[in-house]
Amino acid sequence: MRLDRPVVFGNWKMNGLRAEGLALAGTLAERAVRLTGTLGIFPPFTLIHAVAQRVKETAILVGGQDCHERASGAYTGCVSAPMLADAGAKAVILGHSERRHGLGESDALVRAKLRAARAAGLLVVLCIGETEAEYLAGARSARLAAQIDGSLPEGIGPEGLVVAYEPVWAIGTGRTPTAEEIRATHREIRAMLAKRIVGGESVPLLYGGSVKPDNAAEIMALSDVDGVLVGGASLDARSFWSIYQAGGGA
Ligand code: PEP
Repeated sequence: MRLDRPVVFGNWKMNGLRAEGLALAGTLAERAVRLTGTLGIFPPFTLIHAVAQRVKETAILVGGQDCHERASGAYTGCVSAPMLADAGAKAVILGHSERRHGLGESDALVRAKLRAARAAGLLVVLCIGETEAEYLAGARSARLAAQIDGSLPEGIGPEGLVVAYEPVWAIGTGRTPTAEEIRATHREIRAMLAKRIVGGESVPLLYGGSVKPDNAAEIMALSDVDGVLVGGASLDARSFWSIYQAGGGA
């Protein structure tokens, strides 16, 4: 799958009943018949099929926010990667901090899910990021290296993989690292991926954490930032679209 810059993905989290989800997708669909960049939306499981149908004549990518590591079986309440693909998803977010920290997901579990998602042909958006305590202790690089190492299966290629750097302390808080910190961290992540994966330097890197229309242009102009993963601001079509435009997307 070709991912032209800017890559702007919206994580709806646990938001959206059918009417509002379809209205949001519909507004975006009117603007996104053809795109110079890559625009993706990640609705809750319940809306994937309907949203995928709503945007099917456009270039908008639809994805899920998680998947199970097995393809099927006795796993009450879970959704597998082939099920996501069957519903119309082309991508999946894995390792989001709200799952790593809120639900105790380990790197090993994320790795197993990643393998399952790739086997189902889904583009994987792997989230990594340090906590505030790690940031303050100067342990950011060590945490990111451990997450990259632990979350990526052996022998994986760069195709079908996107990495999102999302400092846990920046998600939904209105706080962000400085532009220089984001630039330097992305550069470091690019080098870590190049070391870990053959061709890993080509993996698109997104920044995530309190991206809004007024900081998006500065962030996406940084070297080694290929786009952004947006939470709260992706629930408003106007804000989400202006973030995409701020990255040069049309
Ligand atoms: C996210 O949850 O991936 C995220 C980046 O959230 P927000 O933009 O609301 O900080």
